Amino acid sequence: MFSATDTIVAIATPPGRGGIGVVRIAGPEAEAIAGRLLGRTRRMRPRVATFGTAHRDGNGQRVAIDQVVATWFRAPHSYTGDDVVEIGAHGSPPVLRQLVEEAVVLGARPAGPGEFTFRAYLNGRLDLAQAEAVADLIGAVTPLQARAAMDQLGGTLTLTITAIDAALFDLAARLEASLDFPEEGFHFVTSDEACAELQAIATRLDDLVHEGRRGRIVREGALVVLAGRPNVGKSSLFNALAGGDRAIVTDVPGTTRDVLSETIDIGGLAVTLVDTAGVHDDSQDAIEREGVRRARAAHAAATVVLVVLDGSTPLTAGDRALLQDEAGGARLVVVNKTDQPRAWSSGDAAAAGDAIAVSARSGAGLDRLRQGLIERLTGHDQTDEPPAITNIRHLAQVEAARAAVGRAMTQLADGATEELVLAELTGAREALEAVAGRRAPDELLHHVFARFCVGK
Ligand code: GDP
Repeated sequence: MFSATDTIVAIATPPGRGGIGVVRIAGPEAEAIAGRLLGRTRRMRPRVATFGTAHRDGNGQRVAIDQVVATWFRAPHSYTGDDVVEIGAHGSPPVLRQLVEEAVVLGARPAGPGEFTFRAYLNGRLDLAQAEAVADLIGAVTPLQARAAMDQLGGTLTLTITAIDAALFDLAARLEASLDFPEEGFHFVTSDEACAELQAIATRLDDLVHEGRRGRIVREGALVVLAGRPNVGKSSLFNALAGGDRAIVTDVPGTTRDVLSETIDIGGLAVTLVDTAGVHDDSQDAIEREGVRRARAAHAAATVVLVVLDGSTPLTAGDRALLQDEAGGARLVVVNKTDQPRAWSSGDAAAAGDAIAVSARSGAGLDRLRQGLIERLTGHDQTDEPPAITNIRHLAQVEAARAAVGRAMTQLADGATEELVLAELTGAREALEAVAGRRAPDELLHHVFARFCVGK
């Protein structure tokens, strides 16, 4: 993918202006290049902030770029594991660009996306799950997402997986010993013991898979679409939820121009609310028809559809049809306008029996609606604790390991040979080891690091 032997440079802070901006240089020449940039005659001292003026060469004249503070992290005690110098300058885009250009003149190469973290992976500073956690931490939009990423960066997931892998290894070793010394007529592990141990391992894997369902929602966020006939109060509900909760800024492009969408933090989950109000199915207008098409697409992609009913007017055939339509999928029924006298009771619409009563106008019931959404989305009633596993790639590997363990258990029960059982255990271990990805194929590495921006 990248060469790891040269010296790379990039702006490590986001584009735009700020109090400070950081240029990062990594590789064998990092300290020498930074020293020349600062016009130093002596070497920098590791881990000591060095103040100086960075210069560039302008036709033989030294032209000052900025006053900076440079810190040298000597290999292997650095983010990437090789020599790293971080130069803190004023957060001015032309200043930072000139620092990078001058570092290139002095022998560095512009870094590719994610290349610093890739080096950290190559140098064994981070495993693949931790490198992915760096991207998640940078990309987090809610504090809960950040905490889950931080835990994984700290290695909690790797530790959990390693412990399960160790139990598999231990069992496999004893099965193999039984295989290697058949003449002793002695089994290092009986079939019953092996079965019990595999059951315990399967339970641990099941727990992870279960947690992964919530984890995925925490990491990826959810799309919640408001549905209902005109005037039931979808827009009002949208505003009540979006206005009351802190709207969060994401760099995910808005769903469409025609449907209103806003991403908000509900119990730590990044929930993108989509209001399809104003688009009518029977429209003759080409633009509206396009709006309807997009609204339908939003429906199809929705994690949960909020079916909004008006409690103050009798249910219509349209309401009943919508309840019917959405009955099969993940939906949550909301009865709005409960500040008004009820025109129908929940018994009127069997399908709306689990409805949550709210008033977009008074705000009554909105907390219950938020709680209901969290439960519907995650299958859990609280989301304070960061889930151990959040990434679909990791989850897929854990599921593959679980399936292999299941097959091994069936084989043991069927009295299959140790070889067959061992083959499944090996498969399970390979799946688990792929989470940390110590020997990951290039394709996977490319996929993981393509998510990073330059400078990370
Ligand atoms: P939409 O077409 O489904 O998006 O509905 P709107 O949000 O535009 O609301 C339609 C009408 O119902 C507006 O006049 C709102 O003020 C009113 N409305 C919305 N929510 C409530 C509510 O909780 N109570 C009452 N009394 N009126 C509401």
